[in-house]
Amino acid sequence: MGRLALGLFALVAAYVAIVSFPQPMFAHHVRYQNYEVWSDEPIPDSIAAVLDDATRRLKTSELYKPDWTIKLFICNAPWRLWFYGMRFDTTMGGGAEMLLTRNIVIRSADIANNTVRMPQGRRLVDADLRPLSYFIAHEAAHILQSRAFGRTTYITKPVWLSEGFADYIGKGGQFDAAAEHKLYQMGALNWYPRTYRRYHLMLDFLIREKGMTWQELFTDPPSEETVRRMLDAR
Ligand SMILES: [Zn+2]
Repeated sequence: MGRLALGLFALVAAYVAIVSFPQPMFAHHVRYQNYEVWSDEPIPDSIAAVLDDATRRLKTSELYKPDWTIKLFICNAPWRLWFYGMRFDTTMGGGAEMLLTRNIVIRSADIANNTVRMPQGRRLVDADLRPLSYFIAHEAAHILQSRAFGRTTYITKPVWLSEGFADYIGKGGQFDAAAEHKLYQMGALNWYPRTYRRYHLMLDFLIREKGMTWQELFTDPPSEETVRRMLDAR
């Protein structure tokens, strides 16, 4: 290994070590039920209602058992989201680290109003469907995925399945299959983040109409094209 490669390896290793243990870098911390929340801003008591709603969403899945601690890091400063989100992106809603730490990062949040704060000049798409508690439940569902089906499933299974699973649970049952199918046929679910609604629709179809189980889906998932053909022929 050359000196440059060695230096690069050391840098990556140092980065992974730092982002794996973010606790000391977040000044504020609260514990509520099976949640531990860290933030770079004071955490108001209204966090309880937000977490209760995230739990309500998670409980719509029979896979959810509150026997694990959900670790949330709220990154109000954009650089924190950029750095700790591990995607070097200041616009993302949140992220879940499924391989190693099972930590969740969430973007800047207005906890009292159960909403995320968007960067200047950007509006949140489908804000009525996506309060802060949705973002928390969506990311926690990715951790649930990692616990139920394996830490590497996000890498080894198709994106439509992982993101559909997280949205299926994150939306907590707020889903009108007929209305979504109409939007799908109109091509209104073809762009991000609406693609997640399409993935949700595909899973709803496979589970409720085709009787498939999560275990079957994560063991041998059909391709996105296959499911879309089935949906088109419906
Ligand atoms: Zn996701």
